Amino acid sequence: MTVGIVGAGQLGRMLALAGYPLGLDFLFLDPARDAPAGRVAPVLHGPFTDPKLLSRLARECAVLTFDWENISVDALRAHAVSAHAARICPPITALAAAQDRVTEKRLFERLGIPTTRWRAVGSPSQLERALREIGVPGVLKTRRLGYDGKGQVRVRTPEDAHRGWEELGKVPLIYEEWVSFDCEVSIIGARSTSGATTIYPLNGNVHSEGILRLTRAPYGPPSWQRLAARHLRCCLTHFRYVGVLTIEFFVRQGRLIANEMAPRVHNSGHWTIEGCVTSQFENHLRAILGLPLGSPRPLGYSAMVNLIGALPPCEGLLAEEGLHLHDYGKQPRPGRKVGHCTVVAPTAASRDRRARRLLGKLAPGLRIP
Ligand code: AMP
Repeated sequence: MTVGIVGAGQLGRMLALAGYPLGLDFLFLDPARDAPAGRVAPVLHGPFTDPKLLSRLARECAVLTFDWENISVDALRAHAVSAHAARICPPITALAAAQDRVTEKRLFERLGIPTTRWRAVGSPSQLERALREIGVPGVLKTRRLGYDGKGQVRVRTPEDAHRGWEELGKVPLIYEEWVSFDCEVSIIGARSTSGATTIYPLNGNVHSEGILRLTRAPYGPPSWQRLAARHLRCCLTHFRYVGVLTIEFFVRQGRLIANEMAPRVHNSGHWTIEGCVTSQFENHLRAILGLPLGSPRPLGYSAMVNLIGALPPCEGLLAEEGLHLHDYGKQPRPGRKVGHCTVVAPTAASRDRRARRLLGKLAPGLRIP
């Protein structure tokens, strides 16, 4: 059976690597000639909106999924779903909601999931109003197409906001209050075609310049896990979701405040490859193929460190006892995720010690709570 994946990045590549032991084949669609999944599976090269390529993907594959959410919902609907009645998971409605920060915020509010205070900003007068009603500090973000901190301007003074408008304001924006959080967490779960659902332990995430640097899991007290899992289940049920879904939260004084959701496998779940009975990648495939879901039970206390910009010499990393290295085969570029590494420790304290040591080597200066 062949699974079609729109987007052949590192997430797609890890999906394929998880699917081969299950006897699955993969076919990708991606414009980049050197996309990471191209090293492990065939890729149709062309734009994500190419009608011919989308049709071919839909014809040749039992089910379609995606590893990247900045793809055209309209093109998917027109050329994959309508023309070939192809099954696409996760649902396009969830993809559409996650693509627009305003739709996403409204969804959280409708489902009773606390989120940051926000205003849609489409003109200088709406920006003035947002500044009056929400105040500073805040952050201006593009409603669409932002990732890894791109399309965002921190606002400490009203002047910053006006500069942000000049920089970003050619497209619709959102203004959000700046949350002085105690920490950031995310929760990942999978729901299968049968409605069966499984939820992973909570991830504790550290970002710098909008890019994820470190994830530790399991993380936080049981009350955070319960709350996050409740919010995630609510979204999974709302969309009659199929596949893996992630929600990211800020934690302030024990309260969880939703930042955003991702209708796909997520960087904060990479540790599940070595750190859980069943990885998020395998469970995504099981979910979309209607197979029984695997256990999300952790095998210890994991830390995942992203390798950003360029891969350090692998000898230094591999000399670390029990370290698992993932090289995505990407060309180095500042701010680019080129790989990650994971360690699994027997206790939270030993995991944190190892995470600090690794970060000391890989991202000196980054402080972790
Ligand atoms: P995002 O692209 O919205 O996930 O933002 C990337 C990262 O920037 C987040 O994980 C936070 O570390 C930081 N960030 C974004 N929005 C806010 C906010 N409203 N308050 C505080 N930090 C934020």
